[in-house]
Amino acid sequence: MKTAFITGITGQDGSYLAEFLLKKKYKVVGLVSKKHNIGWENVENLKKRVTFEDGDLLDKSSLEKVFKKYKISEVYNLAALSFIPACWEKPQLAFDINALGVLRLLEIIRDKSKKTRFYQASTSKIFGRSDKSSLNEKTPILPKDPYSVSKAAAHFIVRAFRNQYSLFAVNGILFNHESPKRGPDFVTRKITLSAASIKLGLQKKLELGNLKSKEDWGYAPDYVRAMWLMLQQDKPQDFVIGTGEAHSVGDICKIAFSTLGLDYKKYVIVDKKFFRRQTGKPIIADYSLAKKVLSWKPQVSFDKMIKMMVEKDYNYLKDSNS
Ligand code: NAP
Repeated sequence: MKTAFITGITGQDGSYLAEFLLKKKYKVVGLVSKKHNIGWENVENLKKRVTFEDGDLLDKSSLEKVFKKYKISEVYNLAALSFIPACWEKPQLAFDINALGVLRLLEIIRDKSKKTRFYQASTSKIFGRSDKSSLNEKTPILPKDPYSVSKAAAHFIVRAFRNQYSLFAVNGILFNHESPKRGPDFVTRKITLSAASIKLGLQKKLELGNLKSKEDWGYAPDYVRAMWLMLQQDKPQDFVIGTGEAHSVGDICKIAFSTLGLDYKKYVIVDKKFFRRQTGKPIIADYSLAKKVLSWKPQVSFDKMIKMMVEKDYNYLKDSNS
């Protein structure tokens, strides 16, 4: 039986990945930091099947303890300060967790567990806004904010350790991915939660920024499958993962509100204070390498995902307010 160690297990991706690996008969060990910003909600259903260990990416000794206790085959480093505005507020902390945290894990693997395979949660945000619209593994890395800079540093150190010490360490360069477990501050979930709240009469309006702003949004469970596939290959390699399609914030509103029989135009207020500084075209993933090498492609469409999210939010709010 293989043992997988997941950092960030209480987050969106960590909890889906744990479910995925349990189905593949892995023993799953998850790192839970004491502060518990996110809470146990995402892993409530996994409590009996996953072993949780206290620890923090800021504290190397807590990570070493986990490596001493288990023979770890695969590490999935998903823990991060992942919300860009939060990283602007605390850039030093963001760098410490998102970049130095990776280095702490890589040092332990290099010194004590060289056969362990390592997945790093890299991100399409490391590219910044590019002149090109379809981005792949060869696109120049030009990060523009503290989150992306910290992730770019991690990205490069993973590559350096792979080359210098022949570690099986890879970066999954993932475009945005969402689900009913997405944090409520992210725009997709903010919209689905608000649409459900408005339908139930718990909220009147929803304030948003630029409705024309576009992203490549995929479905998180599709993406955790790609993470696992990357660690099953013969050679370590970085992969871009995305859908190759761009959708606008307005598209999310349209699908979410119409799923509940509402016209979003009656409820959504556009406020310039929420506009993000953005230049260049929307960027989408060119995931042809993943398609070729991993035989990976997304399975759940954008429309289906938004419908799933709004239905889940509606049922949850309805039950908790009845
Ligand atoms: P998430 O929901 O924000 O989860 C982040 C996790 O990291 C939480 O479990 C959090 O736990 C944990 N964490 C934060 N600080 C920690 C620390 N110092 N030590 C240990 N754990 C810590 O993120 P996600 O959406 O699942 O994303 C997973 C990873 O993929 C992240 O690294 C993110 O940057 C990256 N990524 C995400 C996307 C996306 O669209 N979702 C796209 C590209 C890359 P507590 O806060 O409870 O401690």
